[in-house]
Amino acid sequence: MKAAVVREHGDFDQIVFELRPVPEPGPGEVRVRVKAAGLNHLDTWVRRGVPGHTFPLPLVLGSDGAGVVDALGAGVGGLEVGEPCVLLPGTSCGVCPTCLAGEDQLCREYGILGESRDGTCAEYVCVPAANVQPKPENLDYAEAASVPLVFQTAWSMLVRKAGLRAGDTVLVHAGGSGVGSAGVQIARLLGATVIATAGGATKCRHAEDLGAHIAIDYTTVDWLDEVRAATSGRGCDVVFEHVGAATFAGSIKSLARGGRLVTCGATTGGQVEISLHQVFFKNLSILGNTMGSKGDLCRVLDLFRAGRLRPVVDSVMPLDELADAHRRLEARDVFGKLVVEP
Ligand SMILES: [Zn+2]
Repeated sequence: MKAAVVREHGDFDQIVFELRPVPEPGPGEVRVRVKAAGLNHLDTWVRRGVPGHTFPLPLVLGSDGAGVVDALGAGVGGLEVGEPCVLLPGTSCGVCPTCLAGEDQLCREYGILGESRDGTCAEYVCVPAANVQPKPENLDYAEAASVPLVFQTAWSMLVRKAGLRAGDTVLVHAGGSGVGSAGVQIARLLGATVIATAGGATKCRHAEDLGAHIAIDYTTVDWLDEVRAATSGRGCDVVFEHVGAATFAGSIKSLARGGRLVTCGATTGGQVEISLHQVFFKNLSILGNTMGSKGDLCRVLDLFRAGRLRPVVDSVMPLDELADAHRRLEARDVFGKLVVEP
């Protein structure tokens, strides 16, 4: 089978295409024939490397995918060969107290496809049976592959961590990004007033189409001034952060008293300065989040089945153009998600 592999960290040319034997599913595993793989910023970190973190190279890239059940390992029931499916990106032991509590993303053995084991940017992938769910029939394979990582993360951030309530005002940074476009939709669905930032008039229009009440073009105006004006100086109840150094100080300033900031990423850098006076005088909460639980994702998939959330696919490209897809992702030349097809 063809697979997109990282053997050494580095630039776009470190994505190499290899012909490998089709993997055999071990006990409890399922082999899936991949029809579409969704890209995430995580893929670019796996390719580039992260100081202080060791990835188990060589690694097949890709955390998100959708396809067809192709073979069942020993002891797997409840699935049929030929069934259309979507892959859940997070793996965990399944038996520890946090897994049993439905918080598998806190498991000490937590891992992600394409980050801690071979991922979806290949013709076939083997995953634990718990990572296979039926594909929503109203989504095609590319759409289904665009959903899991960003929507489960956004759901966990807003519902589980920030405790978003109807009537809250939410600021979603980069509403045109993968996780941002998920955050806008989920916040709107839950009854919040949604303010989104985006780079350029076109992305702002798209963010409004997804449900943002107000979209701020951060390339032409001071977004913090605009947020203050839009909230009559009160500030936001929740800030949805994933940008990091470039926005974090403003994000803290944009919070109302009692506000909650929840962050899942730092695409512009992870070193920020915080005034503790602001944090305690304003009774702020700063919450961290990585991924979400399998249960969060199943809930999200049901909302897609019901037509209450919609996939945001910018482009579908051949797997051979994966390096170009990484380049577009890093240049933010994308609205929503990029998907590749093997
Ligand atoms: Zn566990």
